[in-house]
Amino acid sequence: MPLTVTIVGGGPAGSAAAISLTRTGHRVTIIDKATFPRDKCCGDGLTTGALRILDELGFDRSRVADWQPCHEIELRTPSGRRVSLDLPTSQGLFAAIAPRQQLDQALLNQARDADAVVHEGTTFTSVDRNDDCVRISCIDAQGATVTFESDYLIAADGMWSPVRKFLGVGIDSYLGEWHAFRQYVSNVTGDARTKLIVWFEPDLLPGYAWSFPLPGNRANIGFGVLRNAGHSVQFMKNAWNDLKQREHVIAALGPDAVFEDRHTAWPIPARVNDATKTLGRVLFVGDAVCATDSLTGEGIGQALLTGQVAAEAIHNHGNSAAEVCSAYEKSMSHHFYADHRMSTLLGKVLARRRGAEGALRIVNMNSWTRRNFARWMFEDEPRAALFTPDRWHKGFLKRPGAFID
Ligand SMILES: Cc1cc2nc3c(=O)[nH]c(=O)nc-3n(C[C@H](O)[C@H](O)[C@H](O)COP(=O)(O)OP(=O)(O)OC[C@H]3O[C@@H](n4cnc5c(N)ncnc54)[C@H](O)[C@@H]3O)c2cc1C
Repeated sequence: MPLTVTIVGGGPAGSAAAISLTRTGHRVTIIDKATFPRDKCCGDGLTTGALRILDELGFDRSRVADWQPCHEIELRTPSGRRVSLDLPTSQGLFAAIAPRQQLDQALLNQARDADAVVHEGTTFTSVDRNDDCVRISCIDAQGATVTFESDYLIAADGMWSPVRKFLGVGIDSYLGEWHAFRQYVSNVTGDARTKLIVWFEPDLLPGYAWSFPLPGNRANIGFGVLRNAGHSVQFMKNAWNDLKQREHVIAALGPDAVFEDRHTAWPIPARVNDATKTLGRVLFVGDAVCATDSLTGEGIGQALLTGQVAAEAIHNHGNSAAEVCSAYEKSMSHHFYADHRMSTLLGKVLARRRGAEGALRIVNMNSWTRRNFARWMFEDEPRAALFTPDRWHKGFLKRPGAFID
């Protein structure tokens, strides 16, 4: 029997849940406070894991005008050594850059085309939970109060998750594990025009700075730092201004590069093991369940995956809210917990300059280490796949990428 599901938030997590639910015959309403296309402060980088899910969802890349496939990677160690890595150029796509303004609108449109009803400019304000349904109140674009009632509610409402806050299941004064800055650059003529570059700057460890290439000689450049490393807001502001002046950054962008508009900054939540995942008929997904990778801060693939598995839990067990919650919690544990522990452990190695230098020396040992590290870094396999035999499969790190034409 078709179920009704309201989704708060039309980012990747919400759209993935909506697309998956409509495919299996359920009736979906998405509400988002923004009017799309809306920007989301992000590096715009899509890992192999994210690309595989987009492919599974039947996503049409041509809906993203500035879609940029990416094969060449350059890492810069804290001491300034360069390590070049390549992702496979055949057998599908292993990394791509997709500006969030375009990606999120394309995904939301795909959900709409699949018959999800989308209310943009509609802000969630409160939720009433009953044994057999959930009712949310919102303020619509005209300032009127509107309500939506459904069998289940998916909170895909991002880092600050107003649903989580309203239900009182978050951490007081939570500011995320990471904080990251981003700005677009045009007129890029250096290596950053085509290469995805990651700079392990000594003062940012275990964080890093990046430049991700975009069509038309543009790039998305930014950096992220761990909050618990004691970085103050002032440190971050100074680091951002300083980073743009560093010789190797200027060399990579080229002398005529122009920083567009202004930078934006946003927190990144990475504590999936501890976050509340369900509450009665409410399921939390994406940043609202703090699912980003604690090593890299990547969260688009994680948002898509949590949206997918929440939809699966509702589809398979929809008659019992308790079973939906239990299935979703189990899937989350299967897909995320070991990887989160592994990423946190590796983050500790990268936190020290010597650790980062040593790790990158191992990566650069030979062509085998370089090739496989690149695939592992881009989440071709789960971070802790080696230690979780239930996720082993034939052809480890040998699978084709996504979108094989
Ligand atoms: C600087 C930076 C760089 C990053 N770089 C990368 C990267 O390169 N690759 C990667 O994979 N990840 C990256 N991430 C992480 C990634 O951006 C997030 O993990 C991802 O956006 C999570 O998607 P989501 O759908 O859960 O949430 P979001 O994309 O944040 O969507 C949440 C939606 O909820 C809506 N919403 C919020 N409140 C309400 C309300 N009250 N009512 C209605 N709607 C509401 C918002 O308008 C929004 O559309 C980066 C993050 C930052 C900050």
